[in-house]
Amino acid sequence: MDDCIFCRIAAGSVPSTKIYEDDTVFAFLDIAPVSDGHTLVVPKSHFEYIHDCPAELLGEVCSRIGRIAGAVQRGVGADGYNVLCNNGRAAGQLVGHLHFHIIPRRSGDGVFDKWLSFKYPPAKAERIAQLIRKAM
Ligand code: 5GP
Ligand code: ZN
Repeated sequence: MDDCIFCRIAAGSVPSTKIYEDDTVFAFLDIAPVSDGHTLVVPKSHFEYIHDCPAELLGEVCSRIGRIAGAVQRGVGADGYNVLCNNGRAAGQLVGHLHFHIIPRRSGDGVFDKWLSFKYPPAKAERIAQLIRKAM
């Protein structure tokens, strides 16, 4: 994927601040971080969404995330971190190459404070669960 910025970063043809690399995975600092140490973890091969990515490869990518996230947290001395994977424009995905954000957090930093939530009215949860189970 010549026109994909993350393919090019993973191949080393576009510079990045590298955190980790192996045969399958590349991790680098986000160019516009939410906090110091904000890291992106990508598979070296190109898939747009998490549900496009073959299960075996997804497992390989996820198997690296714990180690990288622990190093990010210890490295910057964060109190915690979020692992985030945006899928689709509606969900905030701007780069069409599957990636996981590791976002270091500090107690009281206010990031993601506005998490809009609601309660299901009676029977709606089961109706929605049925739709999802059918789509599996
Ligand atoms: P998304 O919104 O697609 O989940 O996140 C894409 C992320 O990639 C953004 O946080 C953005 O700052 C980062 N990003 C976009 N282009 C580049 C780039 O060329 N280099 C690096 N290091 N990060 C990038
Ligand atoms: Zn790509």
